[in-house]
Amino acid sequence: MRPEILFPLFAPIASLKGVGPRVAPLLERLAGPIVRDVAFLIPHSLVRRTPALLSSAMDGQVMTFEVVIDSHQPARSKAQPLRMRVSDPTGFMTLVFFGRFGDQIEQRHPVGAKRIISGKVEDDKYGRQMVHPDYMVAAEKRDEIPELEAIYPATEGLPPRRVRTFALEALERAPELPEWQDAAWLRQERFPGWREALARLHNPESEADLSPTSGHYRRLAYDELLAQQLAMAQRKAERRKEPAAKIAPSETAAKIRADLPFAFTGAQERALAEIRADLAAGERMSRLIQGDVGSGKTVVAMCAMADVAAGGAQSALMAPTEILARQHYETLSGPLTDHGVGVILLTGRDKGAGRAEKLRALASGAAKVAVGTHALFQADVAFDRLQLAVVDEQHRFGVSERQRLQTKGQAVHLLAMSATPIPRTLELTMYGDLDVSRIDEKPPGRTPVATRAAPMTRITEVESRLREAVAGGAQAFWICPLVSESELIDLKAAETRAAELKQTIGPSVGLIHGKLPAAAKDAVMAEFADGKLSVLVATTVVEVGVNVPNATIMVIEQAERFGLAQLHQLRGRVGRGRQESSCVLLYDPPLSETAQKRLDILRRTDDGFLIAETDLELRGGGDALGLKQSGFPDYVFADVLGPHRDLIAVAGDDARLIVGRDPDLKSERGKALRVLQELFDWKAGLGLRDAG
Ligand code: ADP
Ligand code: MG
Repeated sequence: MRPEILFPLFAPIASLKGVGPRVAPLLERLAGPIVRDVAFLIPHSLVRRTPALLSSAMDGQVMTFEVVIDSHQPARSKAQPLRMRVSDPTGFMTLVFFGRFGDQIEQRHPVGAKRIISGKVEDDKYGRQMVHPDYMVAAEKRDEIPELEAIYPATEGLPPRRVRTFALEALERAPELPEWQDAAWLRQERFPGWREALARLHNPESEADLSPTSGHYRRLAYDELLAQQLAMAQRKAERRKEPAAKIAPSETAAKIRADLPFAFTGAQERALAEIRADLAAGERMSRLIQGDVGSGKTVVAMCAMADVAAGGAQSALMAPTEILARQHYETLSGPLTDHGVGVILLTGRDKGAGRAEKLRALASGAAKVAVGTHALFQADVAFDRLQLAVVDEQHRFGVSERQRLQTKGQAVHLLAMSATPIPRTLELTMYGDLDVSRIDEKPPGRTPVATRAAPMTRITEVESRLREAVAGGAQAFWICPLVSESELIDLKAAETRAAELKQTIGPSVGLIHGKLPAAAKDAVMAEFADGKLSVLVATTVVEVGVNVPNATIMVIEQAERFGLAQLHQLRGRVGRGRQESSCVLLYDPPLSETAQKRLDILRRTDDGFLIAETDLELRGGGDALGLKQSGFPDYVFADVLGPHRDLIAVAGDDARLIVGRDPDLKSERGKALRVLQELFDWKAGLGLRDAG
């Protein structure tokens, strides 16, 4: 239940003065539905309203002047504005007023009156002017003009100054709240109390106060991170409390491994050992395996599934697309069925009698492993005894989808897999409620993909080399970027490229893109996998896990537009077989120094973790890694890719300590922390919290 002390902040925005039926939807779009959201708006700049001389007026600047009104020039028609000439000893300008209040304005500001005006100076063909000054007051009322004014984000119909008024009023509604931070930490960081920090945010005294590195800003960011980390730590602790089936390492898994034509890497051994420790503990597992495409995640998961099957129970492996599900099935079904573990593949394509038979096998327990897509958690799918859910590319599923799969059994263990390498520093923000195993070692015998960058001007050379390679039996991906706002324009570009390559290379050039229906995509992909197509032109739909071992060439156009992680994953499509592979990064010159460095990293290494880490360093902010699509949390204050990165680990440790000592948040600080959690709403917020 929400503590009463927060009621004013959780009141609807319509309760703010001046927020009526017209303004409310605008403000809601900008901030959110409740007063708290308005109090959490962040000013981005500062205007100084210190009077200057008209001779120093500059086009485009917000400036303040002390002037005398020289003359009025009333509007000649309704469409015309009222103009007013004003001057000081150094110059003059025109004030412009649109609307029907001309008479009142003339009366309020008669000729000869002294006024302080403040607003944006504009030079246009009529000369120097100011349209609707932000302020226009008599000299003795100069106090009404704030010397310093924070500028807020605005939206059509809601100018920054109105937003500021609402933000300040929302701040007024914010009560003093009990301190939830550790006193020693506050002193050490010289953080102000929460209310004071918020007040400072809305009443900056200098540009420095607007900086995310200022004390009060960091305090607010830390509050937010702690709220989130605490929610994750609690979630994890709760899951641990749930008793779940104990699963022991099996003979079946050992036999399967013995039959594999390779030995596990050290990293795979570690990951499997960690999973087995979880499964043997009698608590629900929630573990994520992070590792590059091809690092061997799936075979590790297969061993865990074999263990489950040996105990007479079932596993489900869910993939985001039909193609991926099919490939997983092809990898797993051989080794598993060879050792008596029944496997079925269930996707949206299964219909009628065939589907019914598969469902029977799951319900009876004849099938011990189900591989599939969303089809796995449909209402009529029932398992005999589901104990382990393996979710591939887990961020591509919604919370409820993962949950629906897990509700097909009792206290189902969760094993998630992700091929998006997350820098260590950011791991907690995304996976704070999961235990993470990293497979940071590639199976031996893989030749690194020879990577080079070339300007677009050399595209004909690249094309003719490609033609030779294809003549020799090679297969290639050619990636066209999504660059414009419009998918249609991007599609056009990809179509043009495909047509051009058909001219130079021949008819075996195919095209795949996001607008194709799923079945058509699968069909094109299948043709490429079967070698019927030699070149596959694609917008970025080339699915992360898709395996075409014979493909050895990857060409990426406008590589500078992609996130490094994405480039790395695309490159991971090749170099999967024994042959030498190559990757050409085509760019539009000139490259900025940073862009140059970014492409260089790819030439130097194929370690996804290192690449992600370096990219984070190089960009130092913004959505450097394309993380937003990977389910990265949307913070209000915390900029964890930038200046607040150092706070993540501290918040994580703090949260674990709190949950360890006071799991039900009953202590004095615990009660205050509950207020913090409510304030930030992390209970409803982060999807990953609900990973299982
Ligand atoms: P991921 O799921 O991480 O993309 P997979 O488990 O699908 O990786 O493995 C990719 C390919 O590498 C598969 O063909 C698999 O059989 C093979 N493989 C996995 N582990 C090893 C290893 N230790 N040594 C050699 N090949 C391996
Ligand atoms: Mg995979």
